[in-house]
Amino acid sequence: MSEQTALELPIITLREVVMFPRVLMTFQVGRAASVSAIDSAVMEYGRQIFMVAQKSSSIERPGLDDLFPIGVVSRVQKAEKGQDGTVRLVCEGLYRAAWLPLNDSSPFGDRAFPRLRTVPVEETLAEDPELPAVIEALQEVLSEVCRQSRHITPEQLSAFALIEEPGALADAVAPWLKTDYLHRQAILEILDQGRRLRQVYELLGGEIVSSKVSKAVKSRVKAQMEQSQKEYYLTEQIKAINKELGRDDIQDELLELEQCLKAKDMPDEAREKALREVHKLRQMLPGSSEYVVSRNYVDWIADLPWNSLKDIDIDLDRARTVLDGAHYGLEKAKTRILEYLAVQKLTGGLKGPILCLVGPPGVGKTSLARSIAEATGREFVRISLGGVRDEAEIRGHRRTYIGALPGKIIMALKRAKFNNPLFCLDEIDKMSGDFRGDPASALLEVLDPEQNCAFNDHYLDMDYDLSRVFFITTANSMQDIPVPLLDRMEVLELSSYLEGEKMHIARDFLLPRQRERHGLKPENMGISDEALLEIIRSYTRESGVRGLEREIAALCRKAAVRIVEKDGCGVSVNLQNLESLLGVKQFRFDARETQPLSGVVAGLAYTGSGGDILYIETVIMPGSGKLQVTGKLGEVMKESAQAAFSYLRSRSHQLGLRPDFYKEVDIHVHVPEGAVPKDGPSAGITLATSLASALLDIPVRADVCMTGEITLRGRVLPIGGLREKLLAAHRSGMKTVLIPAENEKDLRDVPADIVKALDIRLVNDADEVLPLALLAGRDEILCF
Ligand code: ADP
Repeated sequence: MSEQTALELPIITLREVVMFPRVLMTFQVGRAASVSAIDSAVMEYGRQIFMVAQKSSSIERPGLDDLFPIGVVSRVQKAEKGQDGTVRLVCEGLYRAAWLPLNDSSPFGDRAFPRLRTVPVEETLAEDPELPAVIEALQEVLSEVCRQSRHITPEQLSAFALIEEPGALADAVAPWLKTDYLHRQAILEILDQGRRLRQVYELLGGEIVSSKVSKAVKSRVKAQMEQSQKEYYLTEQIKAINKELGRDDIQDELLELEQCLKAKDMPDEAREKALREVHKLRQMLPGSSEYVVSRNYVDWIADLPWNSLKDIDIDLDRARTVLDGAHYGLEKAKTRILEYLAVQKLTGGLKGPILCLVGPPGVGKTSLARSIAEATGREFVRISLGGVRDEAEIRGHRRTYIGALPGKIIMALKRAKFNNPLFCLDEIDKMSGDFRGDPASALLEVLDPEQNCAFNDHYLDMDYDLSRVFFITTANSMQDIPVPLLDRMEVLELSSYLEGEKMHIARDFLLPRQRERHGLKPENMGISDEALLEIIRSYTRESGVRGLEREIAALCRKAAVRIVEKDGCGVSVNLQNLESLLGVKQFRFDARETQPLSGVVAGLAYTGSGGDILYIETVIMPGSGKLQVTGKLGEVMKESAQAAFSYLRSRSHQLGLRPDFYKEVDIHVHVPEGAVPKDGPSAGITLATSLASALLDIPVRADVCMTGEITLRGRVLPIGGLREKLLAAHRSGMKTVLIPAENEKDLRDVPADIVKALDIRLVNDADEVLPLALLAGRDEILCF
C-alpha cells in the first residue's frame, strides 16, 4: 500500500453505512453537497473520492468532529443522475485512509462540497499460526448462513472462497453482517488483519446463533426430539464461540501441556506423537469434536506413568508377617508365594510363570494378592475381567471410533500412577470370546513375559512396556480358563473352608476388622462361639467367608445403633438373641431328606460357591415311552440322563424288568432347584439310581449320596471337585458317600476328620451302586 500517498479529495459523508476497501457498493445520494462532490471527483480528481461515515446520522451538514477518523478512498465507477436530482452512485473501495482538515473550521472551505486531506493507513498482519483455522471456520459459518438465511447467495459464497488474504476476506464479509454501522466502523478501524477477521467471525457466529434461535422459536410446534437436537446444536455452537472468545486461555493451556510433555520422563516415540498432536490442536477450533478427541489422547499420554517406578523391597520376613497378619491358614499358598518372591529377589525380574489363584468365591484370593502388593511395596490395582467379551476391552478401541478409550490394562496403569504395580486380574475364567474378538488372546500378549515389553494398545497406538508389572490372576474354576492362558500360569488352588476354619477366621480376622470399621470396641460387641457356628450354618451357605463377613458386619451395625441410640454398652450376640438380630434363618443346615423315597437320590455337585447336595427325582406314569428331563439342565447333563436310561434298558433283564417295560410308561426326571442352571456329567450314577429306584419302586436310603460319571456299559468314571463335594456331604449329615474308585487318590486332599466321619465307598461299576443305595439286598435287585 506504500504507493498511495496523501491526497486532497472531495468527500461523501455516509449516514449509517460504512464503505470497505475492495468492495463494490451502491448508494443513493441526495444531499446537494454530496452530489457536487461526486461531480468534482469525476471531473477534477480522477474519479477518486473519500467516503467516511458520520458519527450521527441526524446531522445534515457534519463538521469535522462529526466524522469518524478513518474512511475509505474509493473510485467512482458509475454515477447516474435521476430525475429527482438524486444520484445512484456505484463505488469501489480502494484503501483505508485517515484524514486531516484542509483548514481549521469546516471541511467545506470555499467550495460547495466538503474536502479533506486523506492519509493512507497501513494494515498489519501479526504472526498468528491459528489464522488458517479461523479462515476455515469463517468459511464454514458463511456457508451455514447461506444455507439458513439466504442473505448471502451461493455466488457470493464462492467469491468469498477465492479470497485468501485474511484482511481482504474480513473487508469483503463485513458489509454482509447484519449489524449496525457502529460495529462496521469498528471493524474498519481494526488495522491488524488477523484481529479484524476474528471480529468478523465472532459477529457472524453470533448472527447464526440468533437466526437459529428465531427459527427455533417459530417452529416450537415441531416435535420434542427435533427441539432437543436443536438445543444441543445451539449449545455446541455457543460453546464453540465462547471458547473462541477465550482462546488465549486455551493457548496457555496448550503451552503448559507441551512443557509438561517435554519435561516428563517418557519414550521419545510417545513424546513425539503427543507433541505432534498438540501442534494439531493449536490449529483446531476448541469445542469441536476433533479437538476433544485429540485433547483426550494427549492427556492420556501425559497422564500415563511411563518411567516412574515405585521403590520395591522384597523382604521375606516382612512378607511372611504381612501374609500371616491378614490371613488364617492357607499355608500351602503362602509358602508358594514366599518361594515365588524369593526367586524374584534373586533374579531381580519378573520373568517366570504368572501366579493364578484358583478357588471358590470368598476364600481370600483377592485379599492374598493385595497382601502380596503390600508386602513388596507395589501399588495394588484390581482389574475385573468377569463378563469381558470384547478384545477391545483389554486392548482399547482405535481412535477412529467415537468415544474410543484405552483398554482396561492402560486404564489401570493410569490409576496405579507407577509402572511397576501389582495387577490382580480377577475372574479370568469368566471371560468369553464372541464375534468381537477373543479377549483371551489379547490377555496372552499381556501376560507373556516375552511379548509384554511391547504391548500395543489400539487407542494409544504405540508400544507400552508392561514387563515391570507383577501380574496375579484369580479364577473360580480351572476348567473355564482358556487353555493357552492356563499354559502360561502356575495354578495355586485355594479350597473351601471347613467349619472350624471359618470359626477361626471369623473370630480372629473378620470380627476384629468389622469392629474397627464400625468404630466399636471389643467390649461393645461380642459373639459367642455357638452363635458364630449358627451364623455359619444357618445364615450362610458358601465355601468362602464373604457372606459370613457380611453377617458379622450386619451385627456390628446393630451394635452401633444401640450404642448411639440408647447410650448402651453394645451387643453381646448369643444363640438366644441371634434370630432377633439377623432375622429368620436363611438355610436349613441339615437340609436333606430324612425319609427313604422311591426315585429320590442325593447327588453331589460342585458349583461356583463350592460343593452342594443336589437331589434328583424321578416319577413313572402310565404313558407311551417318553423320557422327559427337566430342571434347567445343560446338554451334557441331559445326555448323561439318556446314557443312564440306556444303561438301565440294557440291564432290564438283570433288574427283573420286562425288555419293553419303557413302552407303557412315561418317565419324568427333574432336578430341583429348577431355576438354577446345572451341567456336567458327574450326576450319571445318581441319575441311574434315581431311574432304577423309580422303575423298581424300591426306596433309596436317605443317608446315601453319590457322584460319578456313567458310561453306557455302566462303568463309573472319575469326577472333579471331590474335596468340596465331600465337605458338602459331611455338612449335610450324609453317612455314606459313593465315589468313583479312580478318585481314590484325591482323598489325600480331603481333611482326615472328614474322611473318617464318612463311610466312603469306592465304586467301579453302576452294578455296585444300586445295592449300596437302594433299600434292598443285592439279590433282590440284581439277578444274574
Ligand atoms: P475372593 O477373591 O477369593 O473371592 P476375597 O479375597 O475378596 O475373596 O475375600 C473375601 C473376604 O474374606 C475378605 O475380606 C478377606 O479378607 C476374607 N478372608 C478370606 N480368607 C481369609 C483368611 N484365610 N483369613 C482371613 N480373612 C480371610
